[in-house]
Amino acid sequence: MYTRIYVLKFPKQITDQPIICNLVKKYDLEFNILKAAILLQQEGLLVLQLKGYKTNVDQGLAYLRQQGVQVESLASTIRRDDEKCYQCGACTGICPTGALSIHRPDMAVIFDPDRCTGCGLCVTVCPVRAMEVSLNQTVLNSQAGTAIAG
Ligand code: SF4
Ligand code: SF4
Repeated sequence: MYTRIYVLKFPKQITDQPIICNLVKKYDLEFNILKAAILLQQEGLLVLQLKGYKTNVDQGLAYLRQQGVQVESLASTIRRDDEKCYQCGACTGICPTGALSIHRPDMAVIFDPDRCTGCGLCVTVCPVRAMEVSLNQTVLNSQAGTAIAG
């Protein structure tokens, strides 16, 4: 199963349309909304984890772009909050790239951002939400977002 996180920006003309419902129905995708925001210009911003066959995800992204949604991959903005992480190791079993691993013999859980592809699996599996999606380096930089949830 292919999993990635994307930032979607919806122009205000289409924020009331069921685009995400259509995406799920047409392309057989699962999704998790990780963050949502309304920007000052009434544009909508979603940080969305998509899961499915890669061809379906690619077709779904093409559909979003056809509808006028701006799509950006979020691979570089996964970070770990080391104060929250209590080294349980749950994320290491699910990480497909080895970006999260257990260092022996001290059993420390290591996060290597250079190996992270932004699939987002660790974000949902971590019991204390220590793995985070950061909006700081994305479109919010230039958009002055408000009302962030999640
Ligand atoms: S699942 Fe969360 S708390 Fe456990 S090791 Fe991974 S990041 Fe740390
Ligand atoms: S650390 Fe691993 S599980 Fe987490 S987003 Fe990166 S590649 Fe995916």
